[in-house]
Amino acid sequence: MSELSGEQYDLAVVGLGAFGAAVAFHATRLGLRVLGLDRHDPPHTMGSTHAETRITRLAVGEGPQYLPLVARSHEIWRDLEAETGVPLLHQCGGLIVASDDAAEAERWTDFVGATDRIAAAAGIDFRVLAPQQVSAEFPQLHLAEDEKAGNEPTAGLVMCEDAVRVQLDLARAGGATVRTNETVLALDADDAGVTITTDVGEHRANRVVATTGPWTPELAAPVDGEHLEVTRQLVVWYEVDDLDTWTTDNHPFVMWISEDIADYVALFPSPPGGTPGLKTVSEQFSTFCTPDSAERTVSDEEILDLHTRLLAHRVSGVTPRAIRAEICLYTNTPDEHFLIDEHPDSPRITTVSACSGHGFKHSTAIGEALAQQVATGTSTLNLEPFRRRG
Ligand SMILES: Cc1cc2nc3c(=O)[nH]c(=O)nc-3n(C[C@H](O)[C@H](O)[C@H](O)COP(=O)(O)OP(=O)(O)OC[C@H]3O[C@@H](n4cnc5c(N)ncnc54)[C@H](O)[C@@H]3O)c2cc1C
Repeated sequence: MSELSGEQYDLAVVGLGAFGAAVAFHATRLGLRVLGLDRHDPPHTMGSTHAETRITRLAVGEGPQYLPLVARSHEIWRDLEAETGVPLLHQCGGLIVASDDAAEAERWTDFVGATDRIAAAAGIDFRVLAPQQVSAEFPQLHLAEDEKAGNEPTAGLVMCEDAVRVQLDLARAGGATVRTNETVLALDADDAGVTITTDVGEHRANRVVATTGPWTPELAAPVDGEHLEVTRQLVVWYEVDDLDTWTTDNHPFVMWISEDIADYVALFPSPPGGTPGLKTVSEQFSTFCTPDSAERTVSDEEILDLHTRLLAHRVSGVTPRAIRAEICLYTNTPDEHFLIDEHPDSPRITTVSACSGHGFKHSTAIGEALAQQVATGTSTLNLEPFRRRG
């Protein structure tokens, strides 16, 4: 294999999706000589960062360790909007619906209560609503008697592909070398750096951050008991009777959590310029896949099943007709928290597996913290809670 340039970069970022684009952008801003590599041409639809939008919440019921990350991400997205003129964050508000005893999955247990406690401790506006209050404010939503909702006005949706595009453009403009459609095959660390072998040749860097999303088990799998599971999730946009109702100007997103994890659904109103319909995301954790083996087509049966099981009795004005349907891949750790740590083989390689269905909202702050760690050995935000566990 030939070395592709005589240069030894300060940092090579492998995988330029949500996390890699952010690392490359922030590292370039900090003056590092950055090489970014991706097997596709991000943003693209093969991994975990597509389908227009992602939910963001300041009151993160998954745990208080996440609040500084999402709060900093909001600041960075606002700065990026001011710098580029590209809208990234629509603070349309967010509703979390759940019953007290939900759910089967640990992360959802008393999720409205958990979110309420985190919001109260941090001074975040979060109102808990009874079913009757929800129907008064949002007549199209039908809660069961034992369900309640939590409403956070500062929550909203982030334009996920635009955020990747903007950060990669700024990284390139700042001097980063970004090589797309080039697959990294191996990372070999030695005393002086890391050799990155790709399907084109070899590169050298002092440090590597591997942000390979659902490909992580193949390239830079963290060991020590951590076992990553990749699952195929459905994203379906349904035709609605009244499009105005389901826009980010007029409707919060909704996360609908049930006792049975298979009955979870999230509703995403359409952002300006977005697909005109109601975007829905469901979850399943029983069938595993790889990016290569995942069935990429969403079948008519899946579209009808999602509507019948998860929407018809909960939301009025949503037809069973899909105007767009895609799959997207989750990468989960056993406890569903993130994994951001040095690779066991070498402290020169950091692995980031921060999907678990709730990673995007934290991505640019995590990217900034990782870039700071490479540049200075320390970071403003604490990533310790996300090191390998067990
Ligand atoms: C359906 C769905 C809904 C979600 N909803 C939310 C939400 O509402 N809110 C939220 O906060 N989060 C959400 N998430 C999670 C969030 O989207 C992910 O945490 C995040 O997008 C993961 O980004 P990533 O950078 O890890 O992976 P990716 O964006 O997939 O990036 C990995 C990149 O690595 C590249 N790559 C892989 N292997 C190699 C290699 N060997 N060589 C070179 N390049 C390589 C790939 O081409 C890819 O571009 C959701 C995820 C899904 C799937």
